[in-house]
Amino acid sequence: MSIIDKPDPCFLRFWGVRGSYASPFESHLGVGGNTSCVELRAGNSLLVCDAGTGIIPLGEHIISNDGPRELLVLMTHYHWDHICGLPFFVPAFRRDWRVRFFGPGRDAQEIERSIAAQMRAPYFPVETENWQADIGYVEPQCEGLRHGPFLIRHGSVHHPGVTYGYRITIAGRTVVYVSDNEFRFLDRSLANAGDLSDEDHAIFRSVISEERMAELALIRDADILIHDAQYTEEAYITKRGWGHSCYLDTVDAAIDAGVRLLYLFHHDPGNDDRIVEEMLVRARALIAERGSSLQCEIAREGLVVTL
Ligand SMILES: [Zn+2]
Ligand SMILES: [Zn+2]
Repeated sequence: MSIIDKPDPCFLRFWGVRGSYASPFESHLGVGGNTSCVELRAGNSLLVCDAGTGIIPLGEHIISNDGPRELLVLMTHYHWDHICGLPFFVPAFRRDWRVRFFGPGRDAQEIERSIAAQMRAPYFPVETENWQADIGYVEPQCEGLRHGPFLIRHGSVHHPGVTYGYRITIAGRTVVYVSDNEFRFLDRSLANAGDLSDEDHAIFRSVISEERMAELALIRDADILIHDAQYTEEAYITKRGWGHSCYLDTVDAAIDAGVRLLYLFHHDPGNDDRIVEEMLVRARALIAERGSSLQCEIAREGLVVTL
């Protein structure tokens, strides 16, 4: 699709930007307290990335206007912070809605099992069998998915369990959504590995460079990258290997991959507004230091970005 064919309206909206758990504290509300959920809209086509608590207000919003009555939800993985809004997602309980899900899984049944598991006794009183909408689970397709004008590809990222990042093309622009990912995990491990033989060192270095190429390939030349930037440098020292990035590694990778606009995402609930704003200042200083034209912003709940 060319820019000329761009559907109207065409935008993305952040409904949940927090990682790990919802944090509706006064000190956090400038950035936002809901967990991961991003809406992408192109005309009447609606795509949703992740189903954290942010999908609850999204659901309320979309049933109360004359927009589309169908959507596709892309799950990066099934950790609690990414699925916990689903039991309260109103469109799933409406007969006039059509809801499709895609995420990690060998087939549609495995995707369904992963989504349904949290809505079972003793964890929740209402099961997915009680959903009233036309619900479906999309079979994995190696050539990528289409949803209206959206073309969607996925790639695996570094996070415990199988976790996807999504590369979404719309109206000639590329939006990459990677909510949970630890950049440079092996690289950091080598730095902490102590004495290695020259041979082991060489093997390690070659694996690291392969992994670096793979992680940059998923985000390469993105117009917009929404990426895990959970930890400050100080926090990362004790949390290496937990599957989240130090925000400066995220900025570095975005520069190396030729990204145009980066949104720091999946904010740590331990970081209040002041800390996240300081991270942005330091991120921009790093970009200036590296002489890059990368633009960097904070993903804030409620922010709408025109595509
Ligand atoms: Zn997460
Ligand atoms: Zn996770």
